[in-house]
Amino acid sequence: MRPKTKLIHAGIVGDPHTGAVSVPIYQVSTYEQEAVGVHKGYEYSRTGNPTRHALEEVIKELEDGVRGFAFSSGMAAIHAAMSLLKSGDHVILTDDVYGGTYRIFTKVLHRLGIESTFVDTTSLQALQQALQSNTKAIYVETPTNPLLKVTDIAAVAKWSKANELLFIVDNTFSTPYWQTPLALGADIVLHSATKYIGGHSDVVAGLAVVNSEQLGEELHFIQNAIGAVLGPMDSWLLMRGLKTLGLRMEAQERNAEQIVAFLNQHPAVSKVNYPGLSDHPQHTLASTQARGFGGMVSFDVGGSAKVDEVLSKVRYFTLAESLGAVESLISVPARMTHASIPYERRQELGITDGLIRISIGIEDAQDLIEDLTSALSESGL
Ligand SMILES: *Cc1c(COP(=O)(O)O)cnc(C)c1O
Repeated sequence: MRPKTKLIHAGIVGDPHTGAVSVPIYQVSTYEQEAVGVHKGYEYSRTGNPTRHALEEVIKELEDGVRGFAFSSGMAAIHAAMSLLKSGDHVILTDDVYGGTYRIFTKVLHRLGIESTFVDTTSLQALQQALQSNTKAIYVETPTNPLLKVTDIAAVAKWSKANELLFIVDNTFSTPYWQTPLALGADIVLHSATKYIGGHSDVVAGLAVVNSEQLGEELHFIQNAIGAVLGPMDSWLLMRGLKTLGLRMEAQERNAEQIVAFLNQHPAVSKVNYPGLSDHPQHTLASTQARGFGGMVSFDVGGSAKVDEVLSKVRYFTLAESLGAVESLISVPARMTHASIPYERRQELGITDGLIRISIGIEDAQDLIEDLTSALSESGL
């Protein structure tokens, strides 16, 4: 099955009992047992729910994995994956990971005895230097947020295997439509499905897919034991969102291409970060590792005063956290998504006060470009 067909036909389709073309929303917590332990596969909805199961099947197939899991948020999925580790273990992470990921590692997992080191995972040398005798996992986000740095998944997978580590990839920015990390050697793929997979800014959710039955058993144990599961209605909304994922990803990338070309020649913009640009440091890798460059772009306008001016002028870019939905969003990483990262650390990473991040929607590109043209102009047109 080719990707766009997979989005429609993978997993569990419809309802065999009624012929309904859409998987029903099984709004139920418990299931009748004919005798103790004799049931039709479901006992209690924290352990398993048919609507959630249908979603877990489709994401498993889309990511080319062995078993899928749906959680109540991206952070809950990350927390579940990290619960595979124990006190005393060490994790190496990409240095400009999502702010919430940085926070759970430094403020929560740290208290539980899980150590972390943040390095530039685009450099195998940096990985090697960060390796400790208690290192158990490597956690990569690629492309990163907000600088769109690209890590070589296949190369890290090889290094990870050689060192017997668990290799986890946050695939939120690319989605399985553009990139399938398990096929490149990763062990676990995580998603904030709140973003592109949901795609309509109407649900908070997380997904995880593993590459082996054993990891599947372990993660299901954790999902059921901790209990941060996705409800049936939200599971259904994600399945609905997934059907148009291909169309949306293609449209967002076409818009991104035009907007990036516009920003790149604009005198008020000092730097544009986008993996599709030929001067992006990992452009060649991005072109081969993924099937598309995505719809996330960041650019520098010099300082916070100019940022505020742009924000006050845009009409079609909504100032909001989050990304990946049909409507274009604009944000200021230093003061929003990455505010939980200390100032000095942000400067080291290049998350400057003048950096603007845009998540490009499916509007007409010409309207978006006109919006940015007036927002960036000196005259305040
Ligand atoms: C938003 C996001 C998360 C966290 O997901 P939530 O659904 O907000 O809990 C994790 N990773 C990335 C890359 C994100 O963008």
